[in-house]
Amino acid sequence: MNIKTVGVVGAGTMGNGIAQVCAAAGLKVTLQDIGDEHLERGLATITTSLDRLIKKEKIGEDEKKATLANIDTATKLDALAGVDIVIEAATENERLKLDIFAQLDRICKPDAILASNTSSISLTRIAGVTDRADQVIGMHFMNPVPMMVLVEVIRALQTSDDTYRAVHELSEFIGKVPVEAKDSPGFVANRILIPMINEAAYAYYEGLASAEGIDEIMKLGMAHPMGPLALADLIGLDTCYAVIKVLHEGFGDSKYRPCPIWQQMVDAGYLGRKTGRGFYTYGD
Ligand code: NAD
Repeated sequence: MNIKTVGVVGAGTMGNGIAQVCAAAGLKVTLQDIGDEHLERGLATITTSLDRLIKKEKIGEDEKKATLANIDTATKLDALAGVDIVIEAATENERLKLDIFAQLDRICKPDAILASNTSSISLTRIAGVTDRADQVIGMHFMNPVPMMVLVEVIRALQTSDDTYRAVHELSEFIGKVPVEAKDSPGFVANRILIPMINEAAYAYYEGLASAEGIDEIMKLGMAHPMGPLALADLIGLDTCYAVIKVLHEGFGDSKYRPCPIWQQMVDAGYLGRKTGRGFYTYGD
């Protein structure tokens, strides 16, 4: 495989997991975020995740050490100038991502691939702000990244076959199963998942049942491993809100209208697990 070095933009819920799986596969990773506190939190999450794998006897101390040794951190995008691929996992906000990709296009070496882990934003539009649109692609990992095997690979209209093949190969190299999807709001995974979570939020908002009740109904009744509101907390309520808005605006169809509770929860800073409170409250 030609890809040896990876830049990951954003050290949050997804970025630290992506950095972990790439580093564990032996790739050199530069994890970038806007502040040291985000990077420290990201590294702490990776360490906890590796410790959990040791406890389950899936890896040994040596593998933990080797994985951590493969990860460098940086607060400036310039640090990604030499990497073979960038996987962007910053906050789900179109303007922010367009700005990051325009910068990456200027900074990164000409043959570097620029991938985004966006949950819903058009890859074709993201590719359009670069002068290497054929080397832009979506790599949509699932949460939590170290546990979930799927990578939804989204081709922008401009993505070349070479870029697709390279990302397909990288996904398999890091132990994931790539599945191709077309560029459309929410792609496939979130086109199906997020409307269900949005409907669960409506059920909660309208007082049809408690959060626990709604989740129990979906777990026991539909054999879902996790209830939709607990899943929303895991994903992040700001991310769920951003994705349902992309679906609503992208299709112009009222069936995707966002539940008003998303705006309230985001305004209150109740973003789910990452802030300790969402539909449920969490300890440390
Ligand atoms: P998060 O809020 O946990 O983390 C986002 C990180 O991006 C933060 O650490 C933030 O400081 C950083 N960031 C913000 N602006 C930045 C910038 N200009 N440069 C570098 N870093 C910046 O969010 P997340 O859940 O990790 O989501 C990241 C991306 O992954 C989003 O596009 C989201 O849609 C997607 N995604 C999320 C999930 C999920 O379940 N949470 C699943 C698949 C895909």
